[in-house]
Amino acid sequence: MITANRYFRDTFGHKMYKASIAVNVSCPNRDGSKGTGGCIFCSEGGSGEFAARGGNSVTEQIRKAIGQVKDKAGKDAGYIAYFQSFTSTYCSPDYLENILSEASSCEGIEAVSVATRPDCLGPEILEVLGRQAEKMPLFVELGLQTSSDETAEYINRCYKTDEYLEAVKALKAIGANVITHIIFGLPGETKDMMMDTVRTCVNAGSDGYKFTCLYVLENTVLEKLWRENKVEILEMEEYFDIVEEAVKLLPEDAVVHRFTGDGPKKILLAPYWTKNKRQVVNYINRRFGL
Ligand code: SF4
Repeated sequence: MITANRYFRDTFGHKMYKASIAVNVSCPNRDGSKGTGGCIFCSEGGSGEFAARGGNSVTEQIRKAIGQVKDKAGKDAGYIAYFQSFTSTYCSPDYLENILSEASSCEGIEAVSVATRPDCLGPEILEVLGRQAEKMPLFVELGLQTSSDETAEYINRCYKTDEYLEAVKALKAIGANVITHIIFGLPGETKDMMMDTVRTCVNAGSDGYKFTCLYVLENTVLEKLWRENKVEILEMEEYFDIVEEAVKLLPEDAVVHRFTGDGPKKILLAPYWTKNKRQVVNYINRRFGL
C-alpha cells in the first residue's frame, strides 16, 4: 500500500491538491430513473458537500479553489480538477466533453478526477473519458461501498456489484485510474463481509481506495434509522482495526487516497469522533506509520 501523497509525488513530481467543482448533474438514484431518495446515507448535497457552489463556470470554480490553497500549496504544487458532486457522468457525452476540456485547459490543472456510479458509464461516455485520459491522467472514482448485493439493496444503492466489475474493466481499458469508495460499518455487515468487499475490489483491479466510516448526516434515511437505534456506528478504534485489516489485503502498489472521511460538520450527527479532524489525522499517522 502506498499513500496518496507519495503516489502523487512519484507520479507528478510534486504535491497535488484538488480543486473541487460542482456541475449541473444529478444522480439516477435520486431522479427516479434508478431510484428515488438516493443512498440512505447521502444528503441533499449528493456526496459533494465540499464542492464549490453558485453556478459558476468550471474555470471560475477552479480559479477560486486554487486561489484558496495557493499560498499553502506553494509554487511547485499541481492541481487535480475534481468533479465531485452527485454523479458526474450522468449527463450527455457532449456536456461531459465540454466540462472536461474546460477543466483540463485551466492553468495549473495536471489531472482530472471524476466521481460517478458504475451504471453511468455507457459507451459514448467511455469514449469521452478515453479521449480525456489521452490528454492527462484521469482518475475515475466509483462509489461501490460494499460488494454485498444484499447490503446494497438495504442502502438503496440501486445497482449490482457485477456492474462495478464491468465498469472497472472498461475504465482500465481506456487508461483510467480507478479509485473505489468503500464504507465500513454499513448496517448488518460483519467484518468478513467488509473484507470480502476489499477482496472483490482488489481482484477487479482497482488502483486506489477511499475508505470511510459510515457517518450519519441530517435529513437522510440513515438519520431516521439511527434515531430508532437500528444502526450502530463504529467507534474510532473499532473502525481503524477494520481499516488495518483491509490495508493488509491490498497489493503493494495500491494507493490509499483516504483512510476515513469526515462529513460536513454542520449536518454531521455521528460518529462524533470524526469531528476532531486533527486528532483523527494524528491517530492515522501514528497508527499507520505515515
Ligand atoms: S449514488 Fe452517490 S450521489 Fe447518488 S444517491 Fe448514492 S451517494 Fe448520493
